[in-house]
Amino acid sequence: MKCEKCGSSDIRLFKVIHSDGTRTETVSAVVEPKWNTKPLSSSGKQKIQGTRTVRTELARQCSPPSSADGGVWILAGLPAFVLSIYAAFKGGFYVHSFWIGILAFVLVYWGFMATSFKIWRTYLGGNAKIAAYNKKLDEWHRSWLCGRCGGVTISARK
Ligand SMILES: [Zn+2]
Repeated sequence: MKCEKCGSSDIRLFKVIHSDGTRTETVSAVVEPKWNTKPLSSSGKQKIQGTRTVRTELARQCSPPSSADGGVWILAGLPAFVLSIYAAFKGGFYVHSFWIGILAFVLVYWGFMATSFKIWRTYLGGNAKIAAYNKKLDEWHRSWLCGRCGGVTISARK
């Protein structure tokens, strides 16, 4: 693999940059206190060492795309739950069975969720969003960032 723009072979996958982006570094510093610390340190200087966690801006830039359908499940979830409880009580009381109530709850809940999802996919542009997300995710898996010019190269599908 070589960069499309400058031909450099110093390129890395987005995936690698992203997972590589969070790291723990060791930092050390030498300080010279204003007062005499000779009894503690022969040179009068003290070394301080610690660690810090660093997430690079680059790693954030190379994050995978966010999911397309998260909002639908949350929006449909509450009415589905309320409706299912209602159906469970009505159904359960009608036939005097606890288990029929549970069954009604499950059926109505999943029926409502599946229907909402279908409506979203068909009428509210959900299919296009899913397709766009899949395309972005697929491209993300094949995206390379050049270390020399910063250009992005998307490799051909295997
Ligand atoms: Zn380049």
